Amino acid sequence: MPSLQPYSTFGLAASCDSIQSFTDVASFLSIFNTQNNKTNNATYILGGGSNSIFTDDFDGTILVNEIKGISHFDTESHHYLRVGAGENWHDFVTLCMKEEWYGFENLALIPGSVGACPIQNIGAYGVEVNSLIEKVECVFLETGEQVLLSNEDCQFGYRDSVFKHALANKVLITHVNFKLPKQYELEVSYGELAALTEPTPEKVYSKVIEIRKSKLPNPSELGNAGSFFKNPVVSNAVYQAIAQEYESVPHFVVSDNAGNEQEQIKIPAAWLIDQAGFKGKTLNKVRCHPTQPLVLTNLGGATGSDVITMAKNIIASVQDKFGIQLEPEVRLLGNKGLISL
Ligand SMILES: Cc1cc2nc3c(=O)[nH]c(=O)nc-3n(C[C@H](O)[C@H](O)[C@H](O)COP(=O)(O)OP(=O)(O)OC[C@H]3O[C@@H](n4cnc5c(N)ncnc54)[C@H](O)[C@@H]3O)c2cc1C
Repeated sequence: MPSLQPYSTFGLAASCDSIQSFTDVASFLSIFNTQNNKTNNATYILGGGSNSIFTDDFDGTILVNEIKGISHFDTESHHYLRVGAGENWHDFVTLCMKEEWYGFENLALIPGSVGACPIQNIGAYGVEVNSLIEKVECVFLETGEQVLLSNEDCQFGYRDSVFKHALANKVLITHVNFKLPKQYELEVSYGELAALTEPTPEKVYSKVIEIRKSKLPNPSELGNAGSFFKNPVVSNAVYQAIAQEYESVPHFVVSDNAGNEQEQIKIPAAWLIDQAGFKGKTLNKVRCHPTQPLVLTNLGGATGSDVITMAKNIIASVQDKFGIQLEPEVRLLGNKGLISL
């Protein structure tokens, strides 16, 4: 039984029936159809495993995406890039910086694959990747039909897209197509980026890397899957009730994709978790990270049930204290596939 430990940045000890990688659509479909025809054999598509936590042995086959390749052309106004889903995200961002294809600088050092970036619409430091995606190429698992989804078809939202809903577990993303305007404004409103003097894409890229290295645990040294929970978005009434008791509650007014401001407020989950007393707290072999409580870490030898217990305790405490239900941002897997808490 092959070990899944090296395939997930959280690094729990878990195994599966088999691990198979593919480099193109034909080899994927051949492996998928063979495995899918076996009774009781689950399959799970994996990129870099930085958003997937295997809490148990997996009764099935892990399909590792290694579709590579980057092509580029430009017009007077835009750069266009078509990128294989199995490319490493940060290496791709770094290449773009070198080639002066700017726009990705705020998204530097996010682990994982290019193919996973549309799924939860990765974002950091004021930029979400949906603002740069033109279309996404997919293959339907059951029929092998290839489809091209426009940005609108992807129904992007905060850490959300159609790939988590109507198309969940139905498609393989094979390529992501990006469209980068040559004229654009750098996004430097976020905290330490705002302090940059005469910001350039290179300065933002380097600063983002510096901030991330100083605040987030490096998964190759301390197992983790980045933010464990999503930042909750609540009604203005819920926010006002919390603000009456906690004057300094951090918050951001949420605007929809059309840029219209709504009466909805995002409250950092890290603040809620800290207030609930979990920052730096260890339960069994899982720790709530001392400098970023949104991150849970594997101190070494943690089990799936350690992770689930810690996550459930945090959810219950935040619910008790603030009446807000935290939702996981990570994908948790049990022996048959995705599980919820
Ligand atoms: C230290 C750290 C920091 C992080 N920081 C951020 C951050 O700032 N912002 C952010 O948004 N995220 C962040 N993350 C989360 C993570 O990096 C992203 O979610 C990333 O996009 C996951 O990529 P992956 O290839 O590792 O996904 P995986 O864990 O391999 O897969 C994630 C999900 O996508 C599915 N999937 C993967 N590839 C495909 C494909 N080609 N076709 C169909 N389905 C597929 C999988 O089945 C799974 O359900 C962080 C994680 C870590 C460990």
